[in-house]
Amino acid sequence: MLHRRQSVSPMRAAAVLAALSLLAACTQPEGRYAYDATATQSIPPAFAAPGGIPGKNDWSGESGASGHPQMAADAIRQAAAHFPQCLERLWPEAARRGISRATYDAHTRGLTPDLKIMDLMDAQPEFTKTFWEYLDLLVSEDRVQRGREVLQEHRAAFDAMERSYGVDRHVIAAIWGIESKFSTRMGDRSVVRSTATLACVGRRQDYFRNEFFAVLDLLQRGDVTAEEAKGSWAGAFGPTQFMPTVYRTYAVDFDGDGRRDVVASVRDLVASTANYFHRHGWQKGETWGYEVEVPKDFNFLLADRSRLMTIREWERLGIRRAGGKAFPRSHERVWLMVPAGAQGPGFLMLNNFRVIMRYNPSEAYALAIGHLADRLRGGGAFVQAWPRHERALSREERLEMQQHLNRRGYALGDPDGNFGPKTRAAIRDFQAAAGLVPDGFASQATLARLRGS
Ligand code: CA
Repeated sequence: MLHRRQSVSPMRAAAVLAALSLLAACTQPEGRYAYDATATQSIPPAFAAPGGIPGKNDWSGESGASGHPQMAADAIRQAAAHFPQCLERLWPEAARRGISRATYDAHTRGLTPDLKIMDLMDAQPEFTKTFWEYLDLLVSEDRVQRGREVLQEHRAAFDAMERSYGVDRHVIAAIWGIESKFSTRMGDRSVVRSTATLACVGRRQDYFRNEFFAVLDLLQRGDVTAEEAKGSWAGAFGPTQFMPTVYRTYAVDFDGDGRRDVVASVRDLVASTANYFHRHGWQKGETWGYEVEVPKDFNFLLADRSRLMTIREWERLGIRRAGGKAFPRSHERVWLMVPAGAQGPGFLMLNNFRVIMRYNPSEAYALAIGHLADRLRGGGAFVQAWPRHERALSREERLEMQQHLNRRGYALGDPDGNFGPKTRAAIRDFQAAAGLVPDGFASQATLARLRGS
């Protein structure tokens, strides 16, 4: 991850996929996607239609849905018209960062902005996915199958990585599988062009300026070639979709050939991804979390990421490991997550789950990585069923729910359809006041109750 902080991804099968982002409920200020933690699509490119829709790669010419002044159609047109001047304005800063004029010219001469990115950046998915739909999509049988083969084929690289970094090989393989379907879908946009566009046009220019300078640095050092630096619209590239700044900071030359090649060298990519996890606090020998059974009459207000207790304490409150198994250690401090509310499985989460979320600050993403890792290790599906009769709220319904909550005094700000920790806390509070189970799950029933209140 190194890059990601979120948002971005090449993907476009857009509406549907971007929607997943709404699950990215929790946002962390740092991470691979350092981008816009509240909005957007944290969907890996493996789920994007490769190359976009034919004939649809031109900018719509419309203002962005974010309403940001720099995303207004006229502002975009104007910034695009001044693209060459913008690149010239960025040159002194590039020079201060050690980029040579020759490198700068070689990669920016004649460059034009890729304005289609403006549409992708402000895409507002109408439909969203539930947690279980997201897991079904990411933890598919063919991905499990292929992942087990990849672990066999590259056993020596994974052995060496575990010795050096102490990160579970199944988690690294899961990242590789989910980010790029094991290097088969990495995105095909020029990282230089994408980051240069975003550094000069649109609402996140400061953030993307750093990415633009970082990719030039990687090219100048010879870590990657321009041909290899192809990826998502936000500039994430390679099998594990590192952003250029993540690449610059965390990539390692693990095969010893003098280049940090996280695109084509399996040893480099496995070790570099492990290095990211190691540096963000991965605890060797620990897992990410446990599926648990939660009693029907449980106080769901305790299911909060800030509420850390030992497994022994949770057991005293009636929580049991799913499937009748015992917890390996009862002193671990964990928090309870109930992604589908009282009707679905619960999970007790360890620190390593937070480390996965540093790669992509979405609980649904992190659970998919953890679960795929378990499946690659030989584990089975979750023991408990998801409430598959529930459907995700549409964008209209999410906006409506936030409006109702605002009306009842929960200061959520302008409704944006993104349900982060604040919205979920408001839902739980309303549910408690209305005599519903306060599990924070944005169900149709909760919306119906809000309408009638
Ligand atoms: Ca290398």
